[in-house]
Amino acid sequence: MTFECEKQIIDSLPLVEGRYSFNQKMSQTTWFKVGGPAEVFFKPAHAQDLSHFLKNKPSDMDILCMGAGSNVLVRDHGIKGCVVRLGSGFSGIEIDGPDIIVGAGCLDRTVVMKCLEEGISGLEFLVGVPGTIGGAIAMNAGAYGSEVKDFLRWVELMDEKGEIYRLSSSELSMNYRDGNLPEGSIALRAAFGCYKETQQVIKNKIDDFLKKREDSQPIKGRTGGSTFKNPEGYKAWELIDKAGCRGLRIGDAAVSEKHCNFLLNLDSATARDLEDLGETVRRKVKETSNIHLEWEILRLGM
Ligand SMILES: Cc1cc2nc3c(=O)[nH]c(=O)nc-3n(C[C@H](O)[C@H](O)[C@H](O)COP(=O)(O)OP(=O)(O)OC[C@H]3O[C@@H](n4cnc5c(N)ncnc54)[C@H](O)[C@@H]3O)c2cc1C
Repeated sequence: MTFECEKQIIDSLPLVEGRYSFNQKMSQTTWFKVGGPAEVFFKPAHAQDLSHFLKNKPSDMDILCMGAGSNVLVRDHGIKGCVVRLGSGFSGIEIDGPDIIVGAGCLDRTVVMKCLEEGISGLEFLVGVPGTIGGAIAMNAGAYGSEVKDFLRWVELMDEKGEIYRLSSSELSMNYRDGNLPEGSIALRAAFGCYKETQQVIKNKIDDFLKKREDSQPIKGRTGGSTFKNPEGYKAWELIDKAGCRGLRIGDAAVSEKHCNFLLNLDSATARDLEDLGETVRRKVKETSNIHLEWEILRLGM
């Protein structure tokens, strides 16, 4: 499946400093390694470039901002419109006392390592989350008892018209795995309130979190992390296990044996296989426990 990138679409796009590509295979940019193409894929050079693009793009062109693609399942027929990916022009890190201001394109791990270097503590829980800071805010990423909302002071956003504005953490009303960002907004950078700590204490925390993760999750697999949110008072993996779904397969899509809230693309699964497997798991959990599992992974496109 490819979109017919008529010359008309290309001609309708504004001149930018960043880079466009067409029919970009999302299987190359997402953790599951599945999914059809993005009609247009745009990597802006910097915030003004992104603003110029948003102000001058065709008004009917849909925009979707994607980070590292570690929490998404892009469907096999791809994404119509434009996928925006923030790159190196959005990955600056500034230290402000014990606080840290980070570009949304920065990888979580890079931020944690910078914190270690500077003796700043708080964000260690993000060390094994394989996404960007933009994705961590959009999803209110969390692990080991902490979540982004506990440390976020403010986020700078760009709206659909290319205007920049700032929201404080309290204005966002973030919830469990939901940053509650205003519809269509793109996070550009954010400030986190942290505290000073010795490098040894920070390193111990990082090592501990990485070890726990390696022991319990298939972190080297093609996966999207936790597939379903934990329902209030339950653990999704326990419900899935109880429903007999550990190791369940459809084609090359499998429920992980190691952590059964993770789905895996074992080799050549399609997005369809993975989504069908997820829906089968939901149905079996409903039958055995009478609980509706809610997808945490975002299913995107057609
Ligand atoms: C092995 C593995 C382990 C994981 N462990 C955890 C975990 O412990 N805890 C956890 O919470 N998650 C975990 N995840 C899920 C995922 O890594 C997180 O949700 C992560 O924060 C997503 O970041 P991303 O950059 O990959 O976002 P993407 O997957 O690219 O996008 C996710 C959402 O964020 C939006 N988004 C991305 N960037 C921006 C931006 N700049 N502005 C506005 N919206 C944006 C996208 O539109 C999309 O809606 C794991 C995933 C994997 C594969």
